[in-house]
Amino acid sequence: MDNNKLAELLFPNVKDCSFYENKYKERDLKEDAQVTRFAPSPTGFLHIGGLFSALVSFLVAKKSGGKFFLRLEDTDQERKVVGADKLLVSVLQKFGLQFDEGLDSIGQEFGDYGPYVQSERMDIYKSYAKKLVEMGLAYPCFCGDEQAKELEEMQAKDNTEKRGYYGKYARCRNLTYAEIEEKINKGLPFAIRLKCQYKLGDRFKFKDKVKGEIEMDANINDAVILKSNGLPPYNLAHAVDDHLMRTTVVIRGEDWLSATSEHSQIFEALNFAPIPYAHLPQLEKMDGTSRRKLSKRKDPEADASLFFKQGYPKEAIIDYLMTLINSDFEIWRSKNRNVSYLDFDFKLNKVSKSGSLFDMVKLNDVSKNHIAYLSAEEVFNGIMGWANAYDQDFAKMIENNEEKLKGVLSIDRGGDKPRKDIAKYSEVKDVFGYMFDDIYYSYNLNNFEFDFEKYNADLIKEVANHYLSIYNENDDKQEWFNRIKENIEVIGFASDMKVYKANPENYKGSVADYTTIIRVLLTSKKNTPDLSSIISLLGKEEMQKRFNFALKLINNQQ
Ligand code: GLU
Repeated sequence: MDNNKLAELLFPNVKDCSFYENKYKERDLKEDAQVTRFAPSPTGFLHIGGLFSALVSFLVAKKSGGKFFLRLEDTDQERKVVGADKLLVSVLQKFGLQFDEGLDSIGQEFGDYGPYVQSERMDIYKSYAKKLVEMGLAYPCFCGDEQAKELEEMQAKDNTEKRGYYGKYARCRNLTYAEIEEKINKGLPFAIRLKCQYKLGDRFKFKDKVKGEIEMDANINDAVILKSNGLPPYNLAHAVDDHLMRTTVVIRGEDWLSATSEHSQIFEALNFAPIPYAHLPQLEKMDGTSRRKLSKRKDPEADASLFFKQGYPKEAIIDYLMTLINSDFEIWRSKNRNVSYLDFDFKLNKVSKSGSLFDMVKLNDVSKNHIAYLSAEEVFNGIMGWANAYDQDFAKMIENNEEKLKGVLSIDRGGDKPRKDIAKYSEVKDVFGYMFDDIYYSYNLNNFEFDFEKYNADLIKEVANHYLSIYNENDDKQEWFNRIKENIEVIGFASDMKVYKANPENYKGSVADYTTIIRVLLTSKKNTPDLSSIISLLGKEEMQKRFNFALKLINNQQ
């Protein structure tokens, strides 16, 4: 068979590959600089697993002084979702993952190695498919659904060890030029298959940058590398694009691991220098007692943008993903608060080799820690930014209560052991709602509950009035507590907890009961940051108002 003639018949007007090899020059980067990419398929929202993978690729490029680019893998036109490309880019940008090349959030391409959208690269794929035909390493396949079904039946009957398009089952592999020409003249659609050079029993070995030495059965299938619609499946697109875009390490999900043999065969056939792979573990979640992959359909937390809606700071999400990426990140972070995660000595070979558990409890913990070490001003700005985007009524309330909110956020902040109250900004309304008069009054109207068994309405009223009578707005935290202790014995409360515990029957309650009553009346919560600070923020007048309001509710309820 004259391969050149066949190649010309199949691909009459395409450029020679040398055109592209010259156009996309080797990158001029320092030795060891890595070129990585994030290559999502625009099929919907950004999956948290996608963010995980983008983050690793970003780190590898940034830490080595290399380049990080975006490539949109949209060759599966049926799964393409309109607008998903812009959404992916804008969510990644919100997380601070900036591309050196690729697409911006309005869909404009930038960079010297484009097009960065695969559906715009059809001519390039054709050139390389043609080259393979010229080399006698690829051929047209006219099999359709009917032939695929026949093949399946035949292999079931033969009980073959492997199913697929190979050996004697690869019926189009040995078509003659005349047969091919005849089919083409009839207008029959054709795909292009790679002529696999491996046989049953051959093994494939490689060193994965995350998983280490890997060995598997070599692919023996004549893989389709160009579909009958002219678009390549992932395999050829990956090989051609990563070669021409001068990627130095292919970082991708472990769901691609089993296809690595097939992909390497395409690199081999095209004489491309092999590019090392790093297969990342998938993110999993607990489902009952077992673990399963985070599912795009079933698990709301699979959508990376959900975390913004819930008000997690982006740095907290990144910190959490970093703990999954390198397990020693957490210790590093505890010693290096308030510095960029990019300062961490990240190592690709320390990424966990098997599935990583995406655990919301742990995420909340990491996020609480992150927020705890921010300044009150930073937390305030975070809350405001979140509220402006997702809860405008609350944003207005914050504007009217700026000082009070900043005040409560400042309590016990800044030391070695800061308070850890909130994991996400959407919790502020609940956790610090009492700082907003609107929330305090409307919430209490419907929900006010007090521990009536322990404290009756008369006692509560007595404590409230007593406290108003001893209150001094100039007290600091210590003076505040001392003043309470010095004055409560006269109304029958124990100022010393030990004394109280020895003989509780001698008292109406302890100093802890006394402050609890005040705390709940003013905030409707049993736990709050330092009460004396909250009282100074509210002021005497508001305190009086709240006492009256709460006591009325209690009277109505008892
Ligand atoms: N488009 C592929 C995916 O979304 C990309 C895999 C890769 O990074 O090569 O799974």
